[in-house]
Amino acid sequence: MANCKSMSSNSAFINRLMPQNVRETMKKQTSKRNAHIVLTSHVNQLSQKPIEINWAAKSPKKRGPVIGTISNSNERNVIGSHGGSYTVYRALSIASGHFPKEHKPDLENTQPTELVKPQPSWSEQDKIVSVDPWGGEISKAFGEHLKDGLNIQPTIAITQAHLHLAEIKEAVQLGRLKVDGKFVKEDYSVRVTKVAIDPVWYLPGVARRFGIEESKLREVLYTDTGGMYPELVTRTDLKVFLPPIGSTTAYIFGSIDDLSNPDIELTCRVHDECNGSDVFGSDICTCRPYLTWGIEDAVRTAQRGGVGLIVYFRKEGRALGEVTKFLVYNARKRQKGGDSAATYFHRTECVAGVQDARFQEFMPDILHYFGVKRIHNLHSMSNMKFDAIDGSGIEVINRLSIPDELIPTDAQVEMEAKKAAGYFTEGEIKSGEVLEKVKGRDLT
Ligand SMILES: [Zn+2]
Repeated sequence: MANCKSMSSNSAFINRLMPQNVRETMKKQTSKRNAHIVLTSHVNQLSQKPIEINWAAKSPKKRGPVIGTISNSNERNVIGSHGGSYTVYRALSIASGHFPKEHKPDLENTQPTELVKPQPSWSEQDKIVSVDPWGGEISKAFGEHLKDGLNIQPTIAITQAHLHLAEIKEAVQLGRLKVDGKFVKEDYSVRVTKVAIDPVWYLPGVARRFGIEESKLREVLYTDTGGMYPELVTRTDLKVFLPPIGSTTAYIFGSIDDLSNPDIELTCRVHDECNGSDVFGSDICTCRPYLTWGIEDAVRTAQRGGVGLIVYFRKEGRALGEVTKFLVYNARKRQKGGDSAATYFHRTECVAGVQDARFQEFMPDILHYFGVKRIHNLHSMSNMKFDAIDGSGIEVINRLSIPDELIPTDAQVEMEAKKAAGYFTEGEIKSGEVLEKVKGRDLT
């Protein structure tokens, strides 16, 4: 193969880091793999036709399983492989000899703790284009194929947990939330069902969602990831792509079944990841306060007979990444006149090229997976989020913004800038000189 030389120099580098026994295993596996590299970029190089995926078909039998296995290239009926952004780590693990490429997961006892019942939205054309609704219960949906030995893997997993959050404890102590032994326990923990969802893109539907040609979408995805997946342009027979991007997690307070009942009160927050605030409590933005306020209200809703849903998307820094985000923070705080609400969006655009790369177009897919038809209380200021949800056919009754007392001082710049830009608010909208006077902390 043309790339043998580069593989051997990579091996030399990895060899220096590996213990002797791992080096030996790796040597065997690498030489074995070199002899079996098959370029999958042309359909006529496969010995059998893969199982067809009829996206949005009514039954799993007609729909067909999503098979992104790397253990048998003949079975594959998608572009990319399982694991979202972790596919590269898995490849590294295989390269280092730690992970057997032929591994087939033992799925005994991994089934969901609660079921998401099939919804009409699952078979409505283009209602869901970025999630495989059948990906959570593959043993039920694709049992026959599994018995035949196909390496089908779940793209959704559902489990249970208890959350311990300082803000929830405080809410109980301040009397905003009650310990009921069911949703909120004596130790202030909150019972929750967690749903992890990997991205599965149906390319014709994704293209229609963005109003572009499928061929253009494939070409740009191929070209602008540095030529990562040639099959995007050579295998137009493969309509499904498992992109190497972050997953989504849904946290449900109450019954999963109630999410699809429009008569049961639903409180919902769709939250985009902000590691600095969500995890570390950085006070330049309102992300963690929004998240924990959303959780608190979701729990309160469950306690009065409703259901709460928090959806957490891995779209750090408006999907521009943390490096870009921190560059923007510096640019904002070092500009003439200091960090100001009046120039908040402008500085992001100067550094990143766009104000926001999150593209909320896919976000409602998760809601449609659960069969959501009506949201009684939507915790969000974002018009992009509201428009995407409303435009996808889900009714939103109330839009709620965060109480003023929960906004950190340094985050006033973000908050006032968003209100001035037209984000939803029940409060006053500042402009002109008043907006310019909303300043953040200096870099000291
Ligand atoms: Zn944030």
